[in-house]
Amino acid sequence: MSYARFTDLMAGINDILCTVNLLAWDTRTQMPPGGADSRGHQVATLTALARAQATGSAMADAIAAAEDACAHLPATDLRRRALARARREIAILSRIPAALIAESAELTSRAHGAWTAARAANDFAAYAPVLERVFALQREMAEAIGYQDHPYDALVGRFEPGMTRARLTALFADLRGALRPLLAQALAAPAPRTDFLSRGYPVPAQKAFAATMAAALGYDFSRGRVDDTAHPFEISFTRNDVRITGRFRESSPSAGFFALWHEAGHAMYEQNIAPDFTRGIFATDLVNLYAVGGSSFGMHESQSRLWENRVGRSRRFWELHYGRLRDAFPEQLADVSAEDFWRAVNRPEPGLIRVEADELTYDFHVFLRAEIEAALIGGDIAVRDLPAIWNDRMREDLGVTVPNDAQGVLQDVHWSHGYVGSFPTYTFGNIMAAQLFDRARQDPAIAAGLQAGDYAPLGRWLTGTVHRHGRSLDPDEILLAATGRGLDPAPYVATLAAKVAELA
Ligand code: ZN
Repeated sequence: MSYARFTDLMAGINDILCTVNLLAWDTRTQMPPGGADSRGHQVATLTALARAQATGSAMADAIAAAEDACAHLPATDLRRRALARARREIAILSRIPAALIAESAELTSRAHGAWTAARAANDFAAYAPVLERVFALQREMAEAIGYQDHPYDALVGRFEPGMTRARLTALFADLRGALRPLLAQALAAPAPRTDFLSRGYPVPAQKAFAATMAAALGYDFSRGRVDDTAHPFEISFTRNDVRITGRFRESSPSAGFFALWHEAGHAMYEQNIAPDFTRGIFATDLVNLYAVGGSSFGMHESQSRLWENRVGRSRRFWELHYGRLRDAFPEQLADVSAEDFWRAVNRPEPGLIRVEADELTYDFHVFLRAEIEAALIGGDIAVRDLPAIWNDRMREDLGVTVPNDAQGVLQDVHWSHGYVGSFPTYTFGNIMAAQLFDRARQDPAIAAGLQAGDYAPLGRWLTGTVHRHGRSLDPDEILLAATGRGLDPAPYVATLAAKVAELA
């Protein structure tokens, strides 16, 4: 009975947060520009309401009573885990002063506009004071949350429970050392032909192919839909309404395909959370007041990367499905084989832009941002130094000369949204995807399915191993149970090495 009171309160908060998500989806897909101000107020009102309910005395009493009622259960019981997690996250929320949250929200909306204008004008100096304020507030946030070793620990830990600056610095140093020779090796191989990728591919047929394949991978359209957007994303309003968006351009079809399957991977996570529950705590994220249901940002990204890269960019995938693509574009692809297409969508090419980076260069973009974030939060560098640091690192790691700040330090929206500490989770996701996929394909039924183009066995394994647990397990617990190890870059490095060898 007491436990039901707790879940009732959590479900109410979850309803508010899912409504915030619905407004966010509308903002990014449908809303006319004039709606921005009033929409900002609506979101702020609902977010404050959810925060007040989470940190209020009714919730505190409900948690205490439910803990008493569940005290006789083993510590591994889902109810006790849910209570412990709620208590932990509410404690963090309670430590952040409401004034700091309000100031961050106000700054975020101003910072977004400043960033957009600065990027358009290629004017970092105009954005620098806003960015300084963003990082100053994030430092205050870190102090409010608390940490043992480094203030960045408090921030990255909100996105990736259990992660610290020390841990990720060592991890990234290892990975950088392993990726450098692989990238050099890949770039030494003859370049594949890519001429056909820029031929004109009408967008409706691209969308149809991408959506058909998303359904084949396991995205459930009866509980989802696809819309157009400038920057593709996935968003859920419960496990039974999980939407994705895509962006398709006539001149580069593969980018649209992989972006949609990436988002479908995120969506399948949400659609398969807690299959035994229709409503309840497992879709609630109190940390960010945002109803993302996964174990962590990194674990969520592992699901998108797994379907996008481990499945979608595999040779077998294109052997199986290229015929369907060529049927849709018989003229454009008349002189192109499945092998040509697979090689083209895997070509390594050091570039300026993170979101367009291939698998071998992507993580270098993440290392750079993570190092900058941690150093800024630690007070080791100043915002005004960022362009020089950025450009030096791009030259050193990728051999790329950054022609201007718009294509350099100004390219990402994350910092203007106050998302300090989220960049490293992209690389955690790549690592986890390889760990999980490596383990999954040892199962003969899954391996046979991948060979035959039947993705259901892999989907079922991911649901049982990852999805169903929602937020009730930490990422290390999921990895340990599935693979016998915590976060471990070795399978990722081995996977990329095998890919480089396959492409040689
Ligand atoms: Zn993603």
